[in-house]
Amino acid sequence: MDGIRPEWRSTTLARVIDRLETELARAWADLLTDQRIAAGSPDETALCWLVVEDPAAHDWRVVDAALDRLSCADCGHILTRGPAACERCGFHHNMRFGAREVDRAGVPPGNEHAIRVAFAVARARARYSPRARVGYELVLPALVAGALPTTPQAQAAKALINKLTPEECDRVTTLTEVERLAHGRRAGSR
Ligand SMILES: [Zn+2]
Repeated sequence: MDGIRPEWRSTTLARVIDRLETELARAWADLLTDQRIAAGSPDETALCWLVVEDPAAHDWRVVDAALDRLSCADCGHILTRGPAACERCGFHHNMRFGAREVDRAGVPPGNEHAIRVAFAVARARARYSPRARVGYELVLPALVAGALPTTPQAQAAKALINKLTPEECDRVTTLTEVERLAHGRRAGSR
């Protein structure tokens, strides 16, 4: 076994999430070094709050890393990871999208934004319906590899996903599987 956590839809997705979480950890460690703050100190918690309250001043990896280190005062979960009904988590989940998203060299413009959103949805998946999260989770590995679907491609995928039941949406591991299941069905017939 390769230690892939069971909560992700596929090994491919789990690997990509792991890779991005490693990038978050590295970005956070760099910020601590830069600020001369010790990990685990009260100063680190204070820095986390400064970052999540001013996301536009930081790269999204730093913002997400800060959120990972904070607890929600209302529901007790990691901040933004609480149940969809938790308004405080919802507030900070929405606020995180104000962070900086700088495209890597050699990728289509907007790739970084797409990665950022898909990663956030995958890690806060309880906030989204099965139909809403499946598209983000299936496309994330391709985004990290440097691709960016065109609007017609994204719309075509969405149309196929709409032909699946919520249970199927949570079960599929590839877009090919979505195509196979959707084949010959009318939208909303399930
Ligand atoms: Zn909460």
